[in-house]
Amino acid sequence: MSERWISDRLQKIDASGIRKVFDLAANMTDPINLSIGQPHFDTPEPIKTAFKEAIDAGYNAYSQTQGIKPLIARIQQDVDATYGHDDRKVFVASGTSGALMMALSTLVNPGDEVITFDPWFVMYKHLTTLAGGKVVQINTYPDFRIDIEKVRAAITDRTKVILCNSPSNPTGAVASAEEMQGLAELAAEHDIALISDEIYRRFCYDDEFVSPAKWNDQTIVIDGFSKSHSMTGHRVGFCHGPEHVIQQMLKLQQFTFVCSPHPAQWAALAAMDVDMSGEVADYKAKRDFMLSKLKDYEIHGAGGAFYLFVKAPWGTGTEFVKEAIARNLLIIPGNVFSSQDTHFRISYAAEQKTLERGVEVLKELRTLR
Ligand code: PMP
Repeated sequence: MSERWISDRLQKIDASGIRKVFDLAANMTDPINLSIGQPHFDTPEPIKTAFKEAIDAGYNAYSQTQGIKPLIARIQQDVDATYGHDDRKVFVASGTSGALMMALSTLVNPGDEVITFDPWFVMYKHLTTLAGGKVVQINTYPDFRIDIEKVRAAITDRTKVILCNSPSNPTGAVASAEEMQGLAELAAEHDIALISDEIYRRFCYDDEFVSPAKWNDQTIVIDGFSKSHSMTGHRVGFCHGPEHVIQQMLKLQQFTFVCSPHPAQWAALAAMDVDMSGEVADYKAKRDFMLSKLKDYEIHGAGGAFYLFVKAPWGTGTEFVKEAIARNLLIIPGNVFSSQDTHFRISYAAEQKTLERGVEVLKELRTLR
C-alpha cells in the first residue's frame, strides 16, 4: 500500500486527539465511564417493537430516497405547525451526521469559509474539510455565549455558512432567543446559509429551546432521533429547510446514503408517539446533582444536552484527563472539541452510581496540584 492512495482531503483530517484518548483508555478495565455521547437508557420498547415488526412486515428493501411517506408527513406537520414557512420541506436522512455531511457538501465550495463556534462538535471541522471548506472559529470562552459582533467581524467574501449547535455538544450551553435572533438576522443580512444542529433540542433544563429558524425562514435545520429516543444505532435523522436546498441534498443522498435504514424509519415513526419527558427530567436531575457536587469547579453552559464542559483547575485539559484516567475515570480532554486545551468534557448520561463514583474521583483531583 502506498501513501499516494490516500486523498489530500483525508490527509487533512486529523483525528489524533480522540485517538490519543482511546489509546490512554485502552488499558482500563471497567472504567468509571463519563465519556459517552449517547443516552444511557435503552431504546423504549414501542420503538424496538416497531423496528422488529417492520422487518417482519417486509420493509427491508430501499425506501424512497427522501424517506417513508408517513414519517415525512408526521415531521412536516410538526414543522409546519412550529414555523409556518411555505417553502420549508422535510426529508429523512441517514442520521444527523448524514444530514450534516450532505448540507455542507451541498453548500460549500473549495475555499469557502464556514463559521463555527469554539468549542465545537468534532464533526463540523472534518466535514467542512471534506467539502473543501475552511473552518473559521469564533471563540466563545469563558461562558460559551454567542457574541454577534464577533460573528459579524468574522464574515468575509468567502463566508458561505454559519453552523450553530444549541444545546451544544460539548458545553451544554443553550443559546438565548436574543443570540439566535441575532445570528438569524445576521445570516439573512449577508446572504449566508445558516445551519442549525438541533439534535439536543429536547434536552433543555432551564430555558425553552429556541431555533434561529424562528427568525430566518431559510435556516437549514438538522435534527434526529439518535439522542432524543436513544436510537443512535438506527441512523434516522431529518432535515428541513428551503426546498431548493433540500432538493440538492436529496440528489446527493440518492447517490450516497440512498436512504435511512428502512425498518428504522418505521421505528422512528413509532418514536414520535413515545413520551420522553421522564428521561429528560432524569437528565435534568443528573445535571443538578453533578453541578451541586462540582461547585469547586468552573462550569458554564450546562443548560441542556447531557454534557458539562469543565475548566481544568490545574494543568491542561489533557494533563488533567491523564490523572483522571490513572484513577479509572474516563473523561475527554477539551482539545478534542476546541483549539485550546483548558477544559474537559463530562457526559452525565450514566447511571447514578457511576456519577457518584465519578464525583469522588473529581473531588480528589481538584486539589491534586
Ligand atoms: N450533532 C451533534 C452535536 C452530536 O453530538 C451528534 C452525536 N454525537 C450528532 C450531530 C450526530 O448524531 P447522529 O448522526 O447519531 O444523528
